Formats: sequence, structure tokens, C-alpha cells
Amino acid sequence: MMEKLKECGLVSENYDLTKHNTYHIKTQCKYFLQVTDISKIPSLIKFLKKEAITYVVLGEGSNVILPDEFFQGVIISLKKIADITIKDNLITVGAGVNLTKLVNTLINKDYTNLAFLYGIPGSLGGAIWGNAGCFKKEIFDYVKDVTIIDEQEKIVTLEKKDISYNYRYTEFKNRDIIILKARLYIELGDRQKALEEIKNNYAYRLKTQPLDSYNAGSVFCNPVGLSAGKLIEEANLKNKKVGGAIVSNKHANFIINENNAKSSDIIELINLIKKEVKKKYNIDLELEQKIIKW
Ligand SMILES: Cc1cc2nc3c(=O)[nH]c(=O)nc-3n(C[C@H](O)[C@H](O)[C@H](O)COP(=O)(O)OP(=O)(O)OC[C@H]3O[C@@H](n4cnc5c(N)ncnc54)[C@H](O)[C@@H]3O)c2cc1C
Repeated sequence: MMEKLKECGLVSENYDLTKHNTYHIKTQCKYFLQVTDISKIPSLIKFLKKEAITYVVLGEGSNVILPDEFFQGVIISLKKIADITIKDNLITVGAGVNLTKLVNTLINKDYTNLAFLYGIPGSLGGAIWGNAGCFKKEIFDYVKDVTIIDEQEKIVTLEKKDISYNYRYTEFKNRDIIILKARLYIELGDRQKALEEIKNNYAYRLKTQPLDSYNAGSVFCNPVGLSAGKLIEEANLKNKKVGGAIVSNKHANFIINENNAKSSDIIELINLIKKEVKKKYNIDLELEQKIIKW
């Protein structure tokens, strides 16, 4: 097992995941693999499936609720798969690239159309998986194609037209695949204007989101034409607590790990919010964050 993992990259055993999820849930895994050689991953996945060893791909952990229990399987991190190549109006981005770093790289070369991604604290892989977006734009507006390891452990490149996606949704959410890289369309623009846009957007985030706390962004998707945060606020759930988890006073669609929250506290609070919003508005809130099970 260890040999097989080492073929793909750097392996740590009995590894603490607290700093690998932005909720800072204190949890651990048996094996943490930082992939350095993508070409070896298909054979690793085949091996893990054959041996019935579970694995989870983790980006920056900014959209997940990890379980409290020790994970006996393998966490696969693609953080070191971070190549960026620009050719004409296309950028090829490795799954591990941090979105804010990506924007900084682009702006330094006067490519400005992806500036809206600044401030989303995730990786390219995570952003593609969930079609991340903000300020009325989403990453799939700019995708040309995505390269994945598919369910048959084949490396394939899918054109955008062959991928189903929607608001905070892609088919990858329902598939057992690994995103390796994506090609995005880029455009040259006015650098100063883009820096101004970034400054204003970040100021807006600071004003409206509890950025100084442990959280994983918006808990629920906005129902069509409505704001999940407003619905939760109007159901009087700001500051509602379960264990160490609390609904943010600044933005009701954020749950904060205020005091050593357990994953189970966060999930209980989510269920309570869903129940209250259903009771008050007859609306079923849909989770934007992913509850990981292992
Ligand atoms: C303060 C804050 C603000 C945020 N603001 C926004 C926002 O404005 N807009 C927005 O859309 N989101 C926002 N988010 C949520 C989050 O940052 C995004 O969803 C981000 O794209 C998640 O990326 P990640 O790398 O952290 O993914 P993770 O949380 O690590 O993973 C999310 C899911 O993607 C899967 N995954 C990750 N990488 C891969 C891969 N390479 N292959 C296959 N599956 C993979 C994981 O298995 C998991 O199921 C915010 C979060 C925080 C904490």
C-alpha cells in the first residue's frame, strides 16, 4: 500500500486535517497523499478500488464538512499539481492552483476577465467541481475543456458542451472522477480597472462576510430569485448555536466554527435551519457545502 502511494507523490501517515478544511474541524486520516506524478494516479485508483480502500479528493477544503471520525482511507491532495500555462487566449490550469493566485498571475500579465474569482479561497479543481462563482459570474462562463480521470481510470478531456452544469452544479458532483486540469478562456484588459474591481469586491466581502472566522462560505444555495441568507435571517436564526457552531451574525448563510465545533454540531445546525425555513416559507434549502462521508 505505502509503496503504491509513494509512486504517486509524498505520503504522510496519521495526518491531521484541521488545517486542510476551512471549518477547522479536528479530524485525521490514515494516509495523506500529495500527488506529484499524475500519470501514476489511474493505476493507484485501480489498486484502491480493487482493495476496497476508500479515498477522498480534497482541494483547499473550503466547501466541505469533514466527518469527526478518523478516516482509515486515503486523502488525495492535488495541491502540487499547480502548473499554469498561457497560450494565446487560453490558460491551462492545474487542479491544485489556488484561485486567488491564479488571478494574481493573470493580472500581472494584463489578463483581467477572471478577476471576479479573487477572494474565493479554493483550488481550481474544487471550483470546477462545483462551478464556483460570485458577482453574477461563474467559472463555467470561461471554461473551454476539463481533463479528468474518469470512472474507468482513463484520462479524458471533456469539452464544455459535453459537461452538464448549472448554478453551483456540475455533473462531476454526481460522478466518481478526479479533475486534473482545465483550460479557461482569458482576455486582455485594463489592469488598473481590474485591480479596482478586485479591491471593491474584496471590500464588499469584508463588509458582508465573517472572513475572520472558521467557515466554509455559503452554506446553502440561493433559491431562484431569493437570498438564502435573508430567509435564514428572517427566520430569526442569526446567532443560533449548536455545540461549538453558530449562525453568523454578519451573514446568516454562514455557519462559523466558534468554539471547537464538531462536524456533527454543524450538520445539526444545518438541519435545524432547513426545518425552520421549511416551516416558515415552505422552501427546501439546498446545501451548497458538501458533507463528506467516510
Ligand atoms: C470565506 C469563503 C468565501 C467563499 N466564497 C465563495 C464564493 O464567492 N463563490 C463560491 O462559489 N464559493 C465560495 N466559497 C466556497 C469555496 O471556496 C468554493 O466552493 C471553492 O471552489 C471550493 O474549492 P476547494 O478547493 O476548497 O474544494 P474542497 O472544499 O476541497 O472540495 C469541494 C468538493 O470538490 C471535490 N474536489 C475538489 N478538488 C477536486 C478535484 N481535483 N477532483 C475531483 N473532485 C474535487 C471534493 O472532493 C469536494 O467534494 C467560499 C468559501 C469561503 C470559506
